[in-house]
Amino acid sequence: MNVGELEMSDQFQREKHSERIHQKETKLDKKVKLAKEFNHEHALKNPHKYHKTSLFNCGNPKCVMCMNPRKAFDEKTMQERKFEQKELYDESKSQV
Ligand SMILES: [Zn+2]
Repeated sequence: MNVGELEMSDQFQREKHSERIHQKETKLDKKVKLAKEFNHEHALKNPHKYHKTSLFNCGNPKCVMCMNPRKAFDEKTMQERKFEQKELYDESKSQV
């Protein structure tokens, strides 16, 4: 690897890194905006706490409204249903 290549990949890595930071910040900005509108004092004081969880999660692990739907009603999640539909579609296409 020559010096030019090294500089290129270094630049690339730095761009990726700043993109990740930017994504996190925009996410947090949106959450803070919601927190202000809904007067979530706790979220406003600790915005990073809600980086990877919903603002409207009440915090009770046994709460039926917030938990995983499969756990509460034996239902599949939206993501799983989407995946299954796509699989069926692909199967019907391959049979033709
Ligand atoms: Zn809840």
